[in-house]
Amino acid sequence: MNGYSPAARPSSSGDAAAKTSDPRSPRPLLRFAEDLARLPSSELGGTLRALLPFSSLPTPLEAAASPELASESASPAALPPELKGILVRRGIAELWSHQAEALARANAGRDVLVATPTASGKSLIYNLATAARLLERRGARALFLFPLKALEHDQLAGLRADLETLSALDPPTAEIYDGDTSPYRRKKLRESPPSVLLTTPDMLHFGILPGHDQWKEFFRNLELVVVDEVHTYRGVLGAHFAQVLRRLARVARHHGAEPRFIACSATVGNPRAFARELFGRELDVVAHDGAPAPQRWLAALEPEASAYTTAARLFRRCVRAGLRTIAFTQARRVTELMHLWVLEAEPQLAGRISSYRSGFLPEERRAIEKRLFEGDLLGVISTSALELGIDVGGLDVCILVGYPGSVLATRQRAGRVARGREGLVFMIPQEDALDRFFLRHPERLVTRPCEDAVLDATSLEIAAAHLPCAAAEVPLAHAETWLESPGVKRALALAHARGSLLESAAGGESFAARRDPAREVSLRAAGESFAIRRAGETGRRVVGTIGGARVTGECHPGAIYLHRAQSYRVTALDFERRSVEVEGPVEVDWYTRPVVEKETEILEVLRSRPIGNTLAKLGRLRVTSRTKAYEKRRIFGQDLLGRHPLDLPPTVFETEGVWLELAPQIERALKSEGLHFMGGIHGLEHAALALFPLFALCDRFDAAGISIPRHAQVRGPAIFLYDSHPGGIGISRAIFPRFEELVALAGEITRECPCVDGCPSCIHSPRCGAGNHPLDKRGVIRVIDLALARAPLPAKRDELVEPELFEEIAEPAVSAAPAPLIFDVETQRAAGDVGGWGNTHLMRLALAVVYDTGSGQFETYTEAQSDALVERLFAAPAVVGFNVRRFDYGVLRAYTARKFEDLPTFDLLEDVHKKLGYRLSLAHLAAQTLGRSKTGDGLQSLEWWKAGRLDLIEAYCRMDVELVRDLLAFAARERHVIFQRKDGERVRLPVEWDGTSILARTARVREMRS
Ligand SMILES: [Zn+2]
Ligand SMILES: [Zn+2]
Repeated sequence: MNGYSPAARPSSSGDAAAKTSDPRSPRPLLRFAEDLARLPSSELGGTLRALLPFSSLPTPLEAAASPELASESASPAALPPELKGILVRRGIAELWSHQAEALARANAGRDVLVATPTASGKSLIYNLATAARLLERRGARALFLFPLKALEHDQLAGLRADLETLSALDPPTAEIYDGDTSPYRRKKLRESPPSVLLTTPDMLHFGILPGHDQWKEFFRNLELVVVDEVHTYRGVLGAHFAQVLRRLARVARHHGAEPRFIACSATVGNPRAFARELFGRELDVVAHDGAPAPQRWLAALEPEASAYTTAARLFRRCVRAGLRTIAFTQARRVTELMHLWVLEAEPQLAGRISSYRSGFLPEERRAIEKRLFEGDLLGVISTSALELGIDVGGLDVCILVGYPGSVLATRQRAGRVARGREGLVFMIPQEDALDRFFLRHPERLVTRPCEDAVLDATSLEIAAAHLPCAAAEVPLAHAETWLESPGVKRALALAHARGSLLESAAGGESFAARRDPAREVSLRAAGESFAIRRAGETGRRVVGTIGGARVTGECHPGAIYLHRAQSYRVTALDFERRSVEVEGPVEVDWYTRPVVEKETEILEVLRSRPIGNTLAKLGRLRVTSRTKAYEKRRIFGQDLLGRHPLDLPPTVFETEGVWLELAPQIERALKSEGLHFMGGIHGLEHAALALFPLFALCDRFDAAGISIPRHAQVRGPAIFLYDSHPGGIGISRAIFPRFEELVALAGEITRECPCVDGCPSCIHSPRCGAGNHPLDKRGVIRVIDLALARAPLPAKRDELVEPELFEEIAEPAVSAAPAPLIFDVETQRAAGDVGGWGNTHLMRLALAVVYDTGSGQFETYTEAQSDALVERLFAAPAVVGFNVRRFDYGVLRAYTARKFEDLPTFDLLEDVHKKLGYRLSLAHLAAQTLGRSKTGDGLQSLEWWKAGRLDLIEAYCRMDVELVRDLLAFAARERHVIFQRKDGERVRLPVEWDGTSILARTARVREMRS
C-alpha cells in the first residue's frame, strides 16, 4: 500500500477515516493524481491531461429568488421530542440549512421542491415532514412515489425505522404496492391502507388511480405526496407523469382531499420552471446545498486505445493504493467485462471488489452497498444504478468511463466522492463528440451549470392518451380548469375525434369509451407502442416495448435489437397487432443498421428569428420516414457483411422541431470553393444533434435531423432538428432560444477535432440513416462560418443593386375606417453584408418607428420588441411607407410566420413608380415638395449601429417617418407632390395620398384577410 488513502487504515466509517488520514500529507489524493501524471503512458494506457478543482456550482439563479423563510421552527431544538428521536436514531446532531428550510416550508403547508446534489439528506426531509403530519393526525395518509421499484425498497427500511421512533408499540405503517406485490397483499393493502404507501408512477397510473373507489379510505385522508428523483421525470416519461399527477390531484379532490407535495431532485438548471410544468402548480424551491463540501478534483485522462482498458488499469491502481473507488460505465455489459478484467489481472482482489447493476436482486444490492459503506469492499464497478438514491458513504475516487451524457449525471456520480472527506474524479472519454469536447475543455465541465430539465406537459399524443384515463376515473367536466390550456384543449379534441372520449348527450361532459384505458398507455413510450415478445410467448410477458415512430427503424425483420445489453433477432413485425417477434438473446458479432429515407413538412411556424445569415425557426413538423433496407456490419471494424432490401410502409408522425433556413449564397459559396454543400449541411446536422444534451437534459437520440439542399416549402436549403417522439417532448422548444450558441459550438467542436475528414468525435453520427454519407468536414466549418456571419457572404454584383419594384396594388373599393400607420425600419447590417438585396430578411432590425395618423403618436420598437411591432402592424387598418413592401417587410419577415401579403399596405414608392415608370428617392421628393433635406443616410445608420448609438438611429428613422407624414399632408391638401425631371424642370405629380383614398385602395386586402 502506498499510504495515499485514509481507507488504507483499518477503519470503517467515512468520518472516522478522515480523522485518521496522514497529517504529513494533507492532500493524499492530489499527490496520488500527481504521481499518476508522472507515469509513462504505457503504464496506465493513457495520459493525464488536466487536474483541476471541481467544486460545487452556485445555486441556480432562478431558484435563488425563493423568499427566505425563518428556519428556526425546524431547528432540532424546536422539533417535537418524537421527531428529535428520529435524528438521534440516525446519529444526527443538527439539520443542514437546506433540510431545515425545506422542512419548515413543508410544515407550513407549502408545496416544496428540494433540488440539491446526491446524498445531501433529502429523504430525511420528507421522512420528518411525514412523521410531523402523522404526529398531528394519526389517520393522515402519505403517498411516496419513486421512479424505480428498487428505490422504493431502498427507502422502506429507513422510513419504517424512522416511523418506529414515533411510537414503539404501535408505529405508523409503511408498505410497498407495486408489480411484485401479490394479489392477496394488494387486497389487504386496499382494505386497510398503511400510513405511507410507497409505489411507482406506473403502478399509480394503471393499478391505483383506475380503481380509486377501492382506495377511498386512503384518498380521503391523503395529506402528503412525496415525489423523489424528480429530475428523472423528463422527456416522454415526464410528459406522462405530468398527466398522472394531474389525475392524482383530481382523484384526491373527488374524495375531498387536497394533498401537499414534497418533491426532491438533483440539481437542474431550471428547478422552478421544471416543477411548475411537471406539477402544474408553483412549488417553493430550496436549491442551496447546506451540506459541507470538502475539496474534490477532476482529472481528465486521455486513453491511448480503449477507454475500458485504461479505466480497468486505473481502477486496479486505485484499489491497490487502498482508495475506495467507484467506476461508472455506460452499459451493463461493460460493467461485467471490466470486473472480469480486473480480477483476471489481480485475482487477489476477489472479495474486495464487486460489480453493481440494475439486474441484481434487492438483497444482493443491499449487501454490496453495506460492504461498500463499511469499507469492506474497496471498489465497485457500476452502471448508472448507483447514481440515484442510496447512501454508500464517502468514497475516495470516482472513475467515469465515458462522459455520463450530462453535467447533471456527471455531478450526481461525482457526488459519490468527497462526502465527509476529499475526493478525486477521473473522466476517461470515449469516441463521442461531447466526450472529446470535455477532454479538450475540462474547465467547462467544472464550470458549466447543470442542464435544464425539459418536459412538455401538454405534449399532444400523451395528453390525448391520458384524458380518457382521467375520464374513466371521474367523468371529465369541460369546465375543469386544467382543460383550459390550449395544449390540453387540442388533446381533448383529438381524443374526441379518435373516439376514445365520448361527449355526453347534453354536452359539457365526457366519458371514456373503453373500460380500462390506462391498461393501454405505457408511461415509457409516446404514441402507440409495439410490444416485443419472444416467439411463442403471449400475454403480458414482454422483452420490452418500442414506440411506433421507431419500430420500422429498429425492429424491422432481420434487425438485431439491443435491449439491456442483450441482443435479440427480430423475426416478425406485425402492424395490425402492434407486435414485434424476436428470438434470443443471441450471440452475434455483427449489428444491423437501417437505411432510412426521410422527409419533412412544415405544418406551422411557431417562432422565427434571424441569426447571422440564416433564419432560425421553431414549429410543428410532419416527418415521414421509410426504412428502405438494412445493412449487416461487423461490430469490430464495421465491415459491411451484406445489404438487405425491405418493403415496409412509411412511418408518419407529427412533432416539434427547430430548423435553419440558409441563404442560397452559402450554397454557391461552397460550390465555388470546391466544398460539398450537402456534406456540409449534413455534417452540421450531426454535430448539432450530438450537442443537444448540453442544452436540454436529454439523450442525443431523443432528437433526430434531416438536411435538405432544396426544401419545397423553404424554397432553399434547410437543416431540420426535431424531437423524435410523436407530439414533441419540449426539447426543440428549449433549444430554440439558444440555437445560435448550439451552432457555434458545433463549429468549434468540428474545427478542433484533430481528424482530417470527420470522425465519431465530431460529425459522424452512430444513427445516421444515410450511413454518414455524404459528409464534408471543411464544408461543415464553412457553412457554419457563413451561416453565423463569421465570414462575409459573397454576392454577385447584380445582387447589390436594388431590385426593380413592381407590385400590383389592389383596386379601390369604398370603405370608411380608422387611421393608417406610417412606418419605417433601420437595419443592423447592409445588403453587402448579407449577400445582396435578395436577403433583406438577414439584415436584422435595428429599430422601427411607427406613427399613428389617428393619435399623432410616435412609437419605437427595438429588435427585442419585434413581436410587438408585428402585432401592431397587423392590427392596423392600413400601413403606409416608402419602399415598405420590399424592404421593411423583407427585414421583418425574419421575425414572424405571419404573411405580409395579408397586410393592407400602401407603398408610396410603388405608386410613384407606377405613375412615372421610374423611381424617386424619399430625399428627392421631400426636398422638392417640402423644401426639406434629409440628414444622414442608411450607411450612416449602420455606423451608428456599430457604435451602439440607438438614439441617433431612432432620430434618423423618425425623421424619415415625419417626411412621409408631411408628404401625405401636403398631398392631401394639394392633390400632388413635386419632383425634378432629368432636364431640370420641377413638375407636379398628381397623387391621391389622403387617408380615405389610401384606405380605399387597401380595402381588398383587408377584406380577403377577414
Ligand atoms: Zn473528428
Ligand atoms: Zn445523417
